[in-house]
Amino acid sequence: MINGDITRLNQFSRFNSVAAARAAEEFGTPIYIYDEAMILNRCQDCLKMPHAYGLTVRYAIKANPNRTLLKIIHDAGLHFDASSLNEVIRAHLAGIPYEKIMLTTQEVYSGQNLDLLKSLLLDGLKYNVCSLRQLYLIGDFACENYIEPGIRIHPGVGSGESATRNTGDEYSCFGIHLSDIDEALKYAWGKWIKFKHVHVHIGSGADTEMWRQNIDIELGIIEKHFKETDSVCFGGGLKEARMPDEQAADIEFLGKYAKTQIEKFNKKHKRKLKMEIEPGTFIVANSGYILTKVIDKKDTAIKSFILTDGGMETNPRPLYYGSQHPIYILSGDGAHVKSSEFSDISGNYSAVVAGKCCESGDCQTLDADGHAISRKMAEPEIGDLAVIGGTGAYCSSLAPFNYNSHTQVPEVLFTSSGDLKLIRKRQTMEQMLENEI
Ligand SMILES: *Cc1c(COP(=O)(O)O)cnc(C)c1O
Repeated sequence: MINGDITRLNQFSRFNSVAAARAAEEFGTPIYIYDEAMILNRCQDCLKMPHAYGLTVRYAIKANPNRTLLKIIHDAGLHFDASSLNEVIRAHLAGIPYEKIMLTTQEVYSGQNLDLLKSLLLDGLKYNVCSLRQLYLIGDFACENYIEPGIRIHPGVGSGESATRNTGDEYSCFGIHLSDIDEALKYAWGKWIKFKHVHVHIGSGADTEMWRQNIDIELGIIEKHFKETDSVCFGGGLKEARMPDEQAADIEFLGKYAKTQIEKFNKKHKRKLKMEIEPGTFIVANSGYILTKVIDKKDTAIKSFILTDGGMETNPRPLYYGSQHPIYILSGDGAHVKSSEFSDISGNYSAVVAGKCCESGDCQTLDADGHAISRKMAEPEIGDLAVIGGTGAYCSSLAPFNYNSHTQVPEVLFTSSGDLKLIRKRQTMEQMLENEI
């Protein structure tokens, strides 16, 4: 007899080893699986965040743009943050109204794309200008059509779990720099444009202190420069705990701090700022699992390796960022979880978890410097499942999936009622090649 509780992979999610084995059999490996209940929980966590005069939670589409997930998140009551015009179109095709989408992008439009942006703005799309050039390109149009763009500010400080994810420091180029604010305001004044919304996103930081600083800095910028602003966005970057020793962002704490500061601001300036946040990672990261199969084992003089059929082409985060993900070893029939970081691991076996790509960085167990390191685990047998946890965000959306001519892998939803539903098919060889001439 298999006890449903005992076979759960961890305490956060109802996803279990039996469902994993069923999914592997029905859809093959490797596959992405998303736990719907976990996504809904995280949406609720964010919507319950304390606030002073209103809260809008925008899901950052780039974390995972699958239309089924967008619909689930939309139905839960969230709005959306898009990083490109294509993301806007994609979300709209998934049934999201333009009024619920805010575009905050590095893209600079001309020709047809600029016309498209303008027509979407008339349809209700919200837009943060992120550079002076972006502002100049829509200035006249905004003036003639009473459109009020938001403005993304580069605060000159940043946070992030790795140097490549820091979006706010002097080495990054997101938003209009503090030193250009006067220029932006002078131009806007000339076009009768009011910046009602101010935005700062400083990166995927774990540090609560950085978040508090961000809130203070942003309110300070509004106080000093933006007399007409009634809405403030603190961006995304709410940390999720993927590994047992990691600490997730304390939403309640951050909300309380923001609430206090916004209330103080109101006391002083008689302006009730609405608040926005833009979590991507926090909403979907821990809902996701990649199911892979152990296809080979090798031992060198100093290390053991297990090879799986899904590596960097499904989860590039260890390679890009040195990220740590939990690895669950399951018997191929799903009868039991042999080991995971969420339970005690007995025995002395440890191994490097490598993929099947011809690339020495194709490894799920890298340290921050990119060195392959061994993980303690139960020694798997060929055919066992190796499940990579914490892979709902920036895996499917960020993966170099056609490397070595592998085909993009399917996505499956583990529904709240415990069913498995295919939500993206496996890419075919023909699809991979169809645009070659
Ligand atoms: C990427 C991004 C987010 C989401 O970041 P997470 O770290 O996934 O929470 C939010 N806002 C903007 C503008 C972004 O570019």
